[in-house]
Amino acid sequence: MTNKNQIEKLLREQELTDYKWIDPKEIVVAQWVRVKCYFGCSDYGLGSCPPNTPSVSECERFFKEYKSALIIKLHKFADKDAYPSDWSREMTHKLLGLERAIFLMNHPKVFLLNQTCCTLCSDCSGNRIDCHDKRNARPSPESFAVDVYQTVQKVGMEINVVANNPGDMNRIAILLIE
Ligand code: SF4
Repeated sequence: MTNKNQIEKLLREQELTDYKWIDPKEIVVAQWVRVKCYFGCSDYGLGSCPPNTPSVSECERFFKEYKSALIIKLHKFADKDAYPSDWSREMTHKLLGLERAIFLMNHPKVFLLNQTCCTLCSDCSGNRIDCHDKRNARPSPESFAVDVYQTVQKVGMEINVVANNPGDMNRIAILLIE
């Protein structure tokens, strides 16, 4: 059984206040998301991004192995031409700490889909075998073929394409817990 109260206490301590518990069956997985990774994304080929991630059907199967999940929404006012890398790194370490704390609460399957593609190193290996930080590298929801917009809207949270620059940027992380 998931220790929801204890996990929510951890979320408050980390000032992660915009979140929602969901049934992982609500996560929408789509082939078009993978196609967008292949064409149009400058992060394609990073160590925790396609083609170094499972196939779309394997991702779909993976989500079915969990009973609960948390969608965590992060907010940042930012200029897309000056990506807030320090803030992003801080959020990644916060989320990795949360994943570890939940693991220690006797949830051995906990797994983080991070709020960004893995950018822990400035010289990414571009594959899993030579990854410089195998313990901490995590994929993003998009690299696991999650249709983030549809999933977030489906569970009643708000998410919009950022039309203004600078503007309010949303980043979405998913913690799979059992
Ligand atoms: S930890 Fe470093 S080498 Fe590994 S995937 Fe992330 S950026 Fe690439």
